[in-house]
Amino acid sequence: MKPPKEKPSDTINTVTTQKKSESRGPQPSVLKTQRAKRDRERSSPRPPKASTIKILTSEKLSGVPWLLHGFSTRPGGVSKEYGGQQLNLGFTPEDAPTDVERNRERFLRKLKAQSAAGISWPLVLLNQTHSAVIHRVYGVRGPEWARLRKNKVEESGGDGLISNTAGVLLGVKIADCFPVVLADRKRKAVGIFHAGWRGTVQRIVEKGVGEMRRQLGCNPEDLLAVIGPGIGGCCYEISEEVENAFDSQFAYSKELFEDVFDSWSLKTKYPMLFLNQRAPGHGEPALSRHLDLVKANWCQLLDAGVPTENIQSMNQCTACHTDLFFSYRKEHVTGRMLAVVGIR
Ligand SMILES: [Zn+2]
Repeated sequence: MKPPKEKPSDTINTVTTQKKSESRGPQPSVLKTQRAKRDRERSSPRPPKASTIKILTSEKLSGVPWLLHGFSTRPGGVSKEYGGQQLNLGFTPEDAPTDVERNRERFLRKLKAQSAAGISWPLVLLNQTHSAVIHRVYGVRGPEWARLRKNKVEESGGDGLISNTAGVLLGVKIADCFPVVLADRKRKAVGIFHAGWRGTVQRIVEKGVGEMRRQLGCNPEDLLAVIGPGIGGCCYEISEEVENAFDSQFAYSKELFEDVFDSWSLKTKYPMLFLNQRAPGHGEPALSRHLDLVKANWCQLLDAGVPTENIQSMNQCTACHTDLFFSYRKEHVTGRMLAVVGIR
């Protein structure tokens, strides 16, 4: 088993949507006022305007004309929690449900996940339990359609969705766990998976490829795979329990760990070291074990038969960039982002 090579992050597109400026140019005096206002705004720490939503997309997936996908980020919503003007897309205990609903509408509108008549596609989400349970989403008709339209499907437990039905958006909620998106270019089929350490150790992505093969007739060689934003190996310190779980499941587990010198854990574990001001080299080096979930999921995709050239990592660490992403590990009380995929 060869570990995957790090991929450059130059294949990430950023779609920023904001209000268009007026078509007619403003007067010079107006310009002056506007410039002063803009300078004031730049120097103040206020969050960006609610009209600004940033959706990350993958170049690999953007090349497929029938495919719709996106990874939400936190700025530009109406949630007053988590710093304000946040695009929280999960019904978290702190946030107002009406604000989350407004954020979701805003996100779907920017994604253009709508029928020709302007009706938003149903968004299918699960009650995520860090499992390896995968559901297939069939064509929706009658009462099923009405139920989906009201976004009442979050009651079903599971962490993976697959489908070959057009006009439905499949999503996973994330805040450190990795979203993994699959698309079969030939058979017009998609899948999306929620892969934290528990889902990864239960091989949800490897199983996901298997389910797409079994239920939708996909050939793994035709699959494109994108590992979205999540907590990187740089920040994801793990316990012995997690390490043992990976050791018991994967022959290549040692390739997924990295021992990182961590000044924070050094101070926590050996406070006396700092009080005594011991000379360098006289203290035990404090290393914390980190897990690389991108590599782990990349390995599963390879094992399932997806060619390495078809796989892309967005290389975005949620814990490193809390200005752009919600991070449960970094913030504890935080919002949720959505990763979504659908067939036009
Ligand atoms: Zn990081």
